[in-house]
Amino acid sequence: KIGWILVGASTVAREWMVDAIGQQGDAEVLAVVSRDAARGAAFAAQFGIAASYTDLDAALAHPGADAVYISTTNEWHMSQTLQAARAGKHVLCEKPLALNLEDARRMVDGCAEAGVVLGINHHLRNAASHGKVRELIRAGEIGQPLYCRVLHANNLPQHLRGWRLDAPESGGVTLDMFVHDVDTLRFLLDSEPRHVTACATSGGMTVAGLEEGLMAVIEFDNGTLVQVHDAYNAPHSLSGVEIIGSKGTIFATGVMTQRPVGSICLTRDGGSIDIPVEHENLYVRSVRAFQRAMRGEGQPAATGDDGTRALATALAAQQASRSHQRVTLAD
Ligand code: NDP
Repeated sequence: KIGWILVGASTVAREWMVDAIGQQGDAEVLAVVSRDAARGAAFAAQFGIAASYTDLDAALAHPGADAVYISTTNEWHMSQTLQAARAGKHVLCEKPLALNLEDARRMVDGCAEAGVVLGINHHLRNAASHGKVRELIRAGEIGQPLYCRVLHANNLPQHLRGWRLDAPESGGVTLDMFVHDVDTLRFLLDSEPRHVTACATSGGMTVAGLEEGLMAVIEFDNGTLVQVHDAYNAPHSLSGVEIIGSKGTIFATGVMTQRPVGSICLTRDGGSIDIPVEHENLYVRSVRAFQRAMRGEGQPAATGDDGTRALATALAAQQASRSHQRVTLAD
């Protein structure tokens, strides 16, 4: 069995990842790491995990540990990834990969040098819905993609209204939600973001200056113009992705979510048809791909390079919204 160490007694681990690892059949959570001994012990007890630690090095030395899943707050991702890599453990890290590009590159390089797999938990590219949309685009069903709209404004759940709203290093909605949009768009369009223009709001739910709502336009290398909307404070908004091509349009409704749900409608000259999707838990797929990569079979669903590119575009959007300037991404 693949032995996992959870680094962070977090909500995402609690709600999704313990179960996703458990569902693999050939994997087991051996221990959880928390800065707070009582929180770690309670987490371990809740899920029947044998051990909890407050010290990462001690956890990394736990017998049978092969991989770590890092879901601490963003400022810890870099140092904990490097520490785990140095101990020879494969790393599945949460997004945003890091707080800046220099740190992201250090993480990618550090894992490569240590010979361990680095994966980023950009869950949306694991959704059967997004996979189907990608398939339709690649099959030429809508011709050349010209425009795209991403609706990802929702209601930040009450239990997540902590560090996201007041810690500058959270990066607000830009480093929290927009990074996911970028990763999904790169996956769907098979193209790279080149220029970003953005406007943001803050100070309602977040502290002043930390983005809670973002509207951005991304110009992709293949010429597709993409409009993206993310928000924490839009309780009655619907989520979706619309891709408008030269020969047709795909509208995927309810797909910007952690849950395996949503529907896809393809519209062309002859009318609209619903495209069937066989949904599966996104996080189960993420862990499955990661474990295969650990065994030398392919790559994680999202690699360190994917995480770095999503982060670079999010930082560009942050810069664009704060400076009111269009920002160009380097190669
Ligand atoms: P949480 O706030 O739930 O957890 C983050 C850390 O905060 C934990 O590691 C824990 O520290 C500490 N913590 C947890 N509960 C409490 C509490 N009650 N009081 C004080 N501290 C607490 O964050 P999320 O789970 O929402 O996010 C964690 C990471 O995962 C972030 O990087 C986020 O961007 C990412 N994320 C990714 C998602 C995805 O779908 N890919 C979804 C949601 C988040 P300690 O470990 O030291 O106990």
